[in-house]
Amino acid sequence: MLDSIKSLARQYAADIVQTRRHLHAHPELSFQEHNTARFVADQLKAIGITPQEGVADTGLVAIVEGRKNNGSSSSSKVVALRADMDALPIHEANNVSYKSTVEGVMHACGHDAHTASLLGVARILHVLGDQFEGTVKLVFQPGEEKAPGGASLMIREGVLENPTPISMLGQHVAPNIPVGKIGFREGMYMASTDELYLTVRGKGGHAAMPDNLVDPVLIASHIIVALQQIISRNCPPASPSVLSFGRFIADGVTNVIPNEVTIQGTFRCMNEEWREEGKRRMVKLAEGIAEAMGGSCEFTVVHGYPFLKNHPELTRRVRAQAVDYMGAENVVDLDLWMAGEDFAFYSQVVDSCFYRLGTRNEARGIISGVHTPTFDIDEAALETGAGLMSWLAVQELGIM
Ligand SMILES: [Zn+2]
Ligand SMILES: [Zn+2]
Repeated sequence: MLDSIKSLARQYAADIVQTRRHLHAHPELSFQEHNTARFVADQLKAIGITPQEGVADTGLVAIVEGRKNNGSSSSSKVVALRADMDALPIHEANNVSYKSTVEGVMHACGHDAHTASLLGVARILHVLGDQFEGTVKLVFQPGEEKAPGGASLMIREGVLENPTPISMLGQHVAPNIPVGKIGFREGMYMASTDELYLTVRGKGGHAAMPDNLVDPVLIASHIIVALQQIISRNCPPASPSVLSFGRFIADGVTNVIPNEVTIQGTFRCMNEEWREEGKRRMVKLAEGIAEAMGGSCEFTVVHGYPFLKNHPELTRRVRAQAVDYMGAENVVDLDLWMAGEDFAFYSQVVDSCFYRLGTRNEARGIISGVHTPTFDIDEAALETGAGLMSWLAVQELGIM
């Protein structure tokens, strides 16, 4: 089986690269992936797979049935594999033949590579269907980059039911890992993401007469400092947590104190209980400080993605299978990462493993991070992306 998968991945590699280039040249923003969805549906139909279209509007679900021991139904296991399809509002700065043809929109997070790889998986597993038992569910989801996250909508539309997968795998390109390598991490891996919006109100006026005013700049400054102490004093020390404010607008001038200050920030952690407790404390503290200083604070929290946990046992299994496919020297450990990823929604419901596919090639200058205008991948990773995921899926179906 391993050799068959490897040789098919090699055979289809050039096609997978073409698919990725087509997607890269025609990016669509989150929840607007209409042409992408049509393209994916056409590709699946050409392979001989009829997908369910229009899931969460622009998502698709396709089933590949193993046909080994056909009729005996000795395995009813289901494994789900996920790719995201959306691009970002970034103007591409690369000069490549497959450069984005859409002004201001770019596949700068590698979702083109994820979609192309999963289409490669579909082809490989469809061809090898009589060599494995069970069901592989292919999930092509919209809107990873934008709240509320396409994954949450796909789950709401029943993607994890009928049939229900025993496990789910997702892969993501990694510009910090050399091409040819793959990275895993057991347990908590990526952070929950919540957005914080504060409006601190006081009473503005001439800066020479602060005694007649309620200074929202000073109140907001106290709030910023105090909120950081929630992270250092209340967060469980073993629980990674980040609080960052990137926007603090006090639109006065040297001699005018404004009426209000607006603040925006992000709160990230890896513990759902602490996540709720932390937010509750922040709102209470900010409102309390503003009130004590004679002003007010309107504090809005926009709840984002949960934290992403890789099921330890599943991850150990999958990692061992990756060693068989890639060689131990090409399987690396991942560090915790405080970025968010909507695959986390699946990981809260079904045993999941989200791993990373090395796409870096320093010799060719492919080093830019995701979400930058110069992001690109070494496309040699696509053969691994399709082959390894196919291998992991059939191995997972084979476990008792
Ligand atoms: Zn991204
Ligand atoms: Zn991404």
